[in-house]
This record gives sequence, C-alpha cells and structure tokens, in this order.
Amino acid sequence: MTAPAIPLDVAAAEAHLMNFLSVEGITGQEANIAAAVIAALKAAGVPESAIRFDDANKRIPLPTQTGNLIVQLPGTRPGPRLLFSTHLDTVPLCAGVKPRREGDRIVSDGTTALGGDARTGVAALVVVAETVLKNNLPHPPITLLFTVREESGLHGARELNPAELGGVEMCVNIDGQLASELIVGAVGQENWEVEITGRASHAGVAPEKGISATMVGAVGLVEARNAGWFGKVSKPEGNGTSNVGIFGGRDGKAAGDATNVVTDYAFIKGEARSPNAAFATEIARGYEAAFGRAKASVVDHEGQGAEVRFSHVTAYPPFELGQDTPIVERATRALKALGIEPNYLFSNGGLDANWLDKHGIPTVTIGAGQAEIHTIKEYVNLAEYEKGCRLAILLATLDA
Ligand SMILES: [Zn+2]
Repeated sequence: MTAPAIPLDVAAAEAHLMNFLSVEGITGQEANIAAAVIAALKAAGVPESAIRFDDANKRIPLPTQTGNLIVQLPGTRPGPRLLFSTHLDTVPLCAGVKPRREGDRIVSDGTTALGGDARTGVAALVVVAETVLKNNLPHPPITLLFTVREESGLHGARELNPAELGGVEMCVNIDGQLASELIVGAVGQENWEVEITGRASHAGVAPEKGISATMVGAVGLVEARNAGWFGKVSKPEGNGTSNVGIFGGRDGKAAGDATNVVTDYAFIKGEARSPNAAFATEIARGYEAAFGRAKASVVDHEGQGAEVRFSHVTAYPPFELGQDTPIVERATRALKALGIEPNYLFSNGGLDANWLDKHGIPTVTIGAGQAEIHTIKEYVNLAEYEKGCRLAILLATLDA
C-alpha cells in the first residue's frame, strides 16, 4: 500500500502547538486555553455557532472555570459521527511554563513541566479541523471534545452528558506518547481511606490506658501486606495494585504531636487498581478487614479498642476494547496505511477514555509526542507530534 497523501501543514501544526503550550491553563483553570482554542478554530474557518461549552463544571465538586468545550462539524459525506477528544488542562507543575524549541524537541526552561500532556492533543484536534476545512477533505460528521480537569480526577469526562456530543459512535482520544501506541484499555481505580480514633494517655505514666491510633494504623498496614493486598496484588480471583499514599493526622498534619502522648488519631489514605472493577473493590475490602484485625489486637488495659471508620469509593471504572471493535479496527487501518505497526497497550492509569467508554463511546487513545509527562524534564518529540497529527487527519477522513 502506498502511503496516502496527507496535506499536513507542518509549520502551521508546530505553530499551533507552540501557541497552546505557551498559554497557562492548569487543572481547573482552563478559561484562557479554551479561548485560545476557540480563536484558532474560528481562524481555521469553524463557525462560532458550532462552538460551545457544556455545563459539566457545575457538577464537578471542585472550582472549575469552564465546562467542556464541544465543537460540531457537519460531515461532507455520510458515516458514523466520530468524536476526537483530548484534555485542556495541564498539571499544576506547568504553571509559569516558558516553552522553547531545542532541535527536534520542545522543552520547558527546566523549572516547570511543559504541558505537552495534553497540549499535543489540543493542537492535533485544531490541526484536524483546519486541515479538513482548508483542503476540503471529505469526512463524516465530526465532534471535537476538549475536556476540563482531567489531571485532577478525570472530572470533565466523568460529568460529560454524552447526549451533548451529537450522536457520536466512537472516539479517538489524543493523550499519549507515540503514534504507534494504541491504548485500548485501562485499569479502574478504587480510593480508600480510614480514620482511626484511639485514646490519648500519658505515654510514660499510664500507657496502658491509651489506645494508639498510630499503632492500629501500622498493624493494619502490616496485616494488609501479609494478606497479600499491598503493592502488586496477584490472587486466584484477580490481579491489581494498591498503595498507601498518606499516613497522617488531622488536616494534613502529622499523626500525633508529642512523644509522651499515646496518639489518639490517625488518617490513612490509599488506592487500589485493577482491570476488574470488582477486584479493585475486593482489594479495598482487604484493607478494611486488615484494619478490623488491627483494631482487635491493639487494646487498652480493659480490652477496649479504637474506633475505625473505613470507606472506599470508585475513582473511575476500567475498560478494555477488543481488536475487532470498529474504532480499534479504524485506528489499526490508519496506522498501517502510514506504514506504522500498531502496538496495543493496556494502561495502568486512568484516562478520559475510561469515562467515555463508560458513557457508551468506545474510545481508543493515540499519542502525539508528549514525553516525560508531569516532570520538569517533560518535552514534546516533534517527529512524533507530526506523526500523531497525520494519524488523526487520516482517522478523520478514512472511509468507514
Ligand atoms: Zn494527559
């Protein structure tokens, strides 16, 4: 197969990327980057009437400047409506970013992250709209979705009402590293926390009258580890991972405040992940049972134990697409047309695709050059960005 001619204006695509990277828009503060995207889309010929915000931000339990940005492009030929998505926000480490080009990369000045996650996706979506409009490329109906607050918990995608997207049947999400990598599934995550209320007592005079919340927590964690629930979890009934993220006291302070007082309060917070939602819950329950055993074993001189309040909540559901799913087949066909062998990946972290899939929109995630994300060493690989843009344009214009 000869490579299809894709009329990508590389200089324009890089200019969009540089422009969007230079606009600060950390998670929850997406108004300025949304305005920059709208300006670019209008300049590319998208009518203002095709561009709007939803009201997802009203349902997000954290302050969020705008809703998700949604753009509807009518098709020039029939076909299932395609969704292209990415997220507008960057991690807080990107605040104050000053992007600059260094050879075939774009980098930060070394004091902030860059925000190629996911401004490469933002730029690629604008490039798709601009390229199909400027070159009159035949395409089915297309919806563009720029979500908010992805980095702080996939909130925009979670609170999205799929009915707002104009009847999309499948989605290409651009939020990955390499064009060859198709993310076709991801784990789900369960968050858990435990509050342990013991009893204070003078640690030198009457330690037996105290109930150490710190010790209940410590024993509980050891119990959980000994039962196989910590770190990599592999059991006959499922696989997953778990971690203890925070072990402290009230309001982000340390647990306890003096060496001579038996600690009366401790707070522990962690997570569990699995390709199977029920098993992620099972891991959380493993911790719950472990803290229950700890409560029974750490008691005062009268046999009384601490009060242990354990809770867990689903952060996002897992998903996995088969290789015969229409969107995976479409992505595979597009990659092969570009002479790139697809590498199918299952992600150990959640992404907007988890919620889009939950909303009934099968979603494959592709990459467009972001690298070393969430660190001050973050950069954009421009060769991969260009490949990602070509792939996205091809996905938008391939025959059904
Ligand atoms: Zn991202």
